[in-house]
Amino acid sequence: MGKVKIIIGKKMLCGVLGIPGVGKTTVLNAAAENVELKRLNFGNYMFAEAQKMSLVKDRDDMRKLPREQQADLQQKAAEQIYKDSRDGNAIVDTHGSIKTPQGYMPGLPENVLRALNPDAIVLVECDPRDICARRNRDVSRNRDPDTVEQVDEHQMMNRCFAAVYADLTNSTVLIVKNEEGKVDEAGKKIAKVFE
Ligand code: ATP
Ligand code: AMP
Ligand code: MG
Repeated sequence: MGKVKIIIGKKMLCGVLGIPGVGKTTVLNAAAENVELKRLNFGNYMFAEAQKMSLVKDRDDMRKLPREQQADLQQKAAEQIYKDSRDGNAIVDTHGSIKTPQGYMPGLPENVLRALNPDAIVLVECDPRDICARRNRDVSRNRDPDTVEQVDEHQMMNRCFAAVYADLTNSTVLIVKNEEGKVDEAGKKIAKVFE
């Protein structure tokens, strides 16, 4: 028998942020078992557009594109996600900041933030050592081989970006720890944001 899902009257959009390999997509699969919601992966929208324009072959190459090209893909993704998220609860699986060769780029610059207008922001985090191990284990992706210190810095930067996003949209920031082997626990915490 399937799980009983919470069905909520009000409609919310929640932005879920976290650095590559922290486990956002995995945890959101678990969250979707607890609450009726649409999951929209920002990177999928950007990648579909980037492929149409023959810019990249691998989704993990997008963060190495020139800044202007990434910004253009971001804008296009945000416009489409806005349209696709109007009819119910939605979660946008995305990044607080993108680690580009030139430095950290906002994942939700003002134009994107205004288009999505999130009611809530969730920051998925965990021990930097677990993130390095997850990146090494997950051969399906080409994530950066960052050190524990670099991962730690990126997570710290994401907290700064999340605070700015919450300020500009008058939304909340919830930090959810995705501890090793505790995906369901993290998924339930995210589902509760919609209660
Ligand atoms: P990206 O931003 O690059 O898409 P992500 O945050 O969506 O990354 P996932 O793809 O969900 O990350 O997870 C990365 C890897 O870590 C996967 O192999 C996944 O199975 C594993 N993983 C996720 N959460 C946990 C956990 N709590 N314990 C152990 N392994 C986990
Ligand atoms: P993901 O599968 O979530 O890692 O998304 C794939 C890629 O899409 C990321 O590595 C980034 O290059 C890009 N991406 C996702 N969300 C954003 C965003 N908000 N702003 C810019 N790039 C993004
Ligand atoms: Mg993912």
